[in-house]
Amino acid sequence: MTVIEEPAADAPPPPVLTREEGRWTHQWRELYEEVITSGLCTGCSACVISCPHDVIGYEHREGGYRPFHLEEELGKDDCVHGQKGCTSCTRACPRFRDWEPTADEHLFGRVREEAELHGIAEQVLLVRAADDHVHELGQDGGLVSAILIWLLDEGYIDGALVSYLEGDGSTWRAKPGVATNREEVLAAAGSRYTYCANWLAYDEAKERGLDNLALVGMGCQTSASPVMWSRKIGKVGKPIRFNIGLLCSKTFDDRIFDELFDAKYGIKREAIKKMNIKGVFQIWTHDGEYHEVPLKECHAWTREGCNHCPDFAAEHADISTGGIGKFNDWTLTVVRTELGRAVMTRMVKAGLVEVKPSEEDPAALALMDRLSRVSRNRWPEQAVAFPRLMPPPPPKKPKPAPAAEPA
Ligand SMILES: Cc1cc2nc3c(=O)[nH]c(=O)nc-3n(C[C@H](O)[C@H](O)[C@H](O)COP(=O)(O)OP(=O)(O)OC[C@H]3O[C@@H](n4cnc5c(N)ncnc54)[C@H](O)[C@@H]3O)c2cc1C
Ligand code: SF4
Ligand code: SF4
Repeated sequence: MTVIEEPAADAPPPPVLTREEGRWTHQWRELYEEVITSGLCTGCSACVISCPHDVIGYEHREGGYRPFHLEEELGKDDCVHGQKGCTSCTRACPRFRDWEPTADEHLFGRVREEAELHGIAEQVLLVRAADDHVHELGQDGGLVSAILIWLLDEGYIDGALVSYLEGDGSTWRAKPGVATNREEVLAAAGSRYTYCANWLAYDEAKERGLDNLALVGMGCQTSASPVMWSRKIGKVGKPIRFNIGLLCSKTFDDRIFDELFDAKYGIKREAIKKMNIKGVFQIWTHDGEYHEVPLKECHAWTREGCNHCPDFAAEHADISTGGIGKFNDWTLTVVRTELGRAVMTRMVKAGLVEVKPSEEDPAALALMDRLSRVSRNRWPEQAVAFPRLMPPPPPKKPKPAPAAEPA
């Protein structure tokens, strides 16, 4: 278990809860004004797949990753169906109004404490898939793929919303898709650092008659399920049985491949075998070479939807996973819900994963909290109060006075 620090005695009081009360009447017009054009929209696509009238469009490519209205009738900022009472898009949106306490309360029966920097958690562990092949194909410990394979084998789910690469993978363009068996899960293993709106695979899953799904995604995507359930969206939220989160501080625009990796370092998309981010952008190429690109050179290609995201640790997943820390081939694993704990316990019993305590890598825990704090501080002042709930940063050390000039 991680140790939760007590808030400092002089910490400011938590902001007052501004919960939505009464009948939910919010529609596209409010979503457009308060989320889409205000900079809060992450492009998660939950509103798109939730629209019962199919009037929300989305382009899954550079310059896109934003919902837009497909009907011209009332202009792009209003919706005929919304005017008639349709509220599905705002019920789905994990950035609309009091989304954070809504998701917290639905999953945990309470709102996170100030000191719970990486969100409400039961346990933090280091985990790796026991199956060597799964482990090798996974980005870190292969835990995400191991969980999906187990959930499918046990019949808890019949499909998972994941991220693939287009075609033979040589373009490195991420594409949402559905995995229904071990081979498909493993074809989707590994991380892409451009955005992949995995919710968009939902329609394919429904068309294939899949009723019990797992969702894999960054926090912006996994917060959508509890928000939908709590706001009583109806049948759209029902198929999601298990949420697996990916720790994330940003994604990059796809143009980074051509405009930085190729233009400055001569690394072509098709030459790339694997990527990771560990303080630097690490790139392994098919010719056996290894390259490092400093992260500060990459910042110019940060995807716009990430700029105000406050959730590093995917706080509303059943289990959140990351790769920070000194053990490269283990997945740093935050077990959050009872369901998450039940899955982990049964997988350990079945010998499908190896586990060690996260206390073996205290620096990883400290870094997770530090990165969580950095993300929280991105939530804009003018937005609703809740995601700013955080302890004040530690005081800066005073700078030593400059030495006096010799006379
Ligand atoms: C964009 C992004 C940013 C990340 N940033 C951090 C970070 O800053 N710090 C950190 O500790 N960890 C980060 N991670 C998480 C880390 O890279 C691993 O995904 C995580 O540790 C799980 O590893 P694994 O071996 O258990 O998963 P695997 O078994 O390899 O499974 C990974 C799963 O993630 C899905 N996936 C891959 N890319 C994407 C994508 N772009 N969008 C949605 N789903 C995807 C795959 O379909 C697969 O199901 C990030 C992941 C992504 C995708
Ligand atoms: S954050 Fe997601 S659900 Fe909300 S408006 Fe943006 S794409 Fe839609
Ligand atoms: S930083 Fe990560 S979790 Fe946040 S919006 Fe971007 S992709 Fe989503």
